[in-house]
Amino acid sequence: MSNIVAIVGRPNVGKSTLYNRLTETRKAIVDDMSGVTRDRHYGVAEWIGRNFTVIDTGGYVHGSDDVFESAIREQVIIAIEEATALLFVVDVTTGITDLDDDIAQMLRRSKKPVFVVVNKVDNTSLNADASIFYSLGLGEIYNISSMTGSGTGELLDDVVKTF
Ligand code: GDP
Ligand code: MG
Repeated sequence: MSNIVAIVGRPNVGKSTLYNRLTETRKAIVDDMSGVTRDRHYGVAEWIGRNFTVIDTGGYVHGSDDVFESAIREQVIIAIEEATALLFVVDVTTGITDLDDDIAQMLRRSKKPVFVVVNKVDNTSLNADASIFYSLGLGEIYNISSMTGSGTGELLDDVVKTF
């Protein structure tokens, strides 16, 4: 049984950008099944010799900000069930939103390892802003920039330890 890392979070935090970065060396497998799975993207990734599957749960947005919160909740529930580890992506430029709090509550109840990934930390001057995300109550935070790739190595080092 292979390890599955699911990327969850509200729209526009950078889930797909992170997914593309993690899977960039291999061809992403786009699942074309009907229903809930239709908009979930599965790809393969490798870090220090460990191969794993990455799921981008955000495909349902289809370029629109107008996404039903119920759809996001459903994606989080499915991700908790099927993932080995969860990457909860949040956005340093917006801080914590109500939907972030809701997702955090769901993830705190899960028995799976959850990594709080503070995205869009494009330069070190944003590190101070990122510390607010400790208040999500999910432990350590990982400051990254999916755009530049900064911080993703430290994140993946700890993710693969949970396999
Ligand atoms: P998703 O809706 O969570 O999948 O978010 P996307 O990956 O589609 O990204 C939403 C927006 O955030 C896009 O305009 C991205 O270019 C931007 N974005 C993603 N990652 C970063 C980052 O690390 N830094 C900055 N500045 N922008 C980012
Ligand atoms: Mg997306």
